[in-house]
Amino acid sequence: MGSLYKYISVDLIFIKQGAKASILKILILSFNSSNPLVFKFYYRYLLLRMNVSMSLSLDNTKTAFAYKSNAELKRANFLFSVIQNSFIVSIATKCTPFLMKSGLPINGLIRKTIFNQFVGGETLEESARVTKQLGAYGVQVILDYGVEAKEGEENFDKVTEKIIEAVAFAATQNNVPFVSVKLTGLASMDLLEKLNEAPRLRSGIHDSEADDAAWSRVKDRMFAICDVASEKGIGILLDAEETWIQDPIDRLAIELMAEYNTEKVVVYNTFQLYRHDRFDFLKISHKIAKEGKFLLGAKLVRGAYMEKERLRAQKNGYASPIHETKEATDQDFNAAAAYCIENRNSVALILASHNEQSNRNIVDLMAKNKLNNKDAHVHFSQLYGMSDPITFNMALEGFNVSKYLPYGPIQDVIPYLMRRAEENSSVNGQTNRELLLIRKELARRKAKK
Ligand SMILES: Cc1cc2nc3c(=O)[nH]c(=O)nc-3n(C[C@H](O)[C@H](O)[C@H](O)COP(=O)(O)OP(=O)(O)OC[C@H]3O[C@@H](n4cnc5c(N)ncnc54)[C@H](O)[C@@H]3O)c2cc1C
Repeated sequence: MGSLYKYISVDLIFIKQGAKASILKILILSFNSSNPLVFKFYYRYLLLRMNVSMSLSLDNTKTAFAYKSNAELKRANFLFSVIQNSFIVSIATKCTPFLMKSGLPINGLIRKTIFNQFVGGETLEESARVTKQLGAYGVQVILDYGVEAKEGEENFDKVTEKIIEAVAFAATQNNVPFVSVKLTGLASMDLLEKLNEAPRLRSGIHDSEADDAAWSRVKDRMFAICDVASEKGIGILLDAEETWIQDPIDRLAIELMAEYNTEKVVVYNTFQLYRHDRFDFLKISHKIAKEGKFLLGAKLVRGAYMEKERLRAQKNGYASPIHETKEATDQDFNAAAAYCIENRNSVALILASHNEQSNRNIVDLMAKNKLNNKDAHVHFSQLYGMSDPITFNMALEGFNVSKYLPYGPIQDVIPYLMRRAEENSSVNGQTNRELLLIRKELARRKAKK
């Protein structure tokens, strides 16, 4: 009884001061309970009162990097230190495609550096090794055949086959619930741009039989992929792309969801919350889903094409579709995620983000709503090669969390790699945090020797 009394005093102090769960845990641990059961019970009770999940620590670097050898960690440290420099990144992103085309032997260099950090391998077999390794830590995988923007009907058919192959492979694994699809891998940019304009011009696509036929083939490809996915119990995530091609992707996503999401969620659309119209669009999509009696699959991201979008808007003299500030993007992203949790009976959420606070918000909301960490309608995801502390610590706590794992021939995944380099080169962006944690882990391992 004496020790219980002590705990109650700690409770009062913390509720008064609003302390964070991690500090709380350390302090409570410093109290020696004579009865471990009382301690356990009381600890859980405290966390419940504070609406935090059990001991979720997102910066435990030992857990986060357990799967990386010292050499791999040092390579990651070197790579992030280099790409932190935006000057180097801007030169590299301009020169690399040209150097690749020129036939210079730079594949080896790319493979050893940025490719190994962010990509699972050149083939499905190679990425299967990474998939297995992640599975050993309770981490799931979103497979992505990372070939982008390769034009021509033959290429589109080949990509379709590769995606179906990935779906079939996913079905043989116990940690690959999703395969992602970029529609620009299955359709020409020109066609998507025309279709994007069609509703605005109130004519468009139907004026051209050739375009109509091309769009039918794109739809056939997507339906073929979803047929196999639905049969095998694998989810299909449609990536979001640039605003000038996004309308047809959204329309197709709704059509596919109406077909495949009647009993379970097979198809997910992606919502880029850096766009100021997307929170409304999420709610409209939900309304359409309810009216059509199907479930909404919603993968939420902030958005990867901010600079490109702003530049194009400026050049062509239209209002930028992107929020003016990061804060406005954050606000919409977090509100949209909360909306999905509030409506989780009819919405399945994939929170695709490296932002610690956004992930924590949803973890807290899940605890508040007494949802199981493994709730079938809540999934978290980070890109392979980034934010391991979030992924691995959440996996340890039993959340549905995955790595988005691209694979494909080096020359074909260059656009993906360039985006990762650019994303990691901003001064106050992700890299500082990646570097800090990688260095923390290197120091911890060194001190242990
Ligand atoms: C699993 C997964 C899947 C993804 N799929 C897609 C996809 O299909 N389509 C896609 O576009 N992206 C996709 N992304 C990338 C994503 O959109 C972001 O670029 C990336 O995740 C960084 O955002 P964040 O939430 O992780 O982190 P944060 O570091 O919190 O946010 C960075 C993001 O905030 C926004 N931002 C930054 N500065 C400003 C500013 N001044 N004003 C307004 N907004 C600002 C930008 O979107 C920037 O990328 C995916 C990411 C993940 C993890």
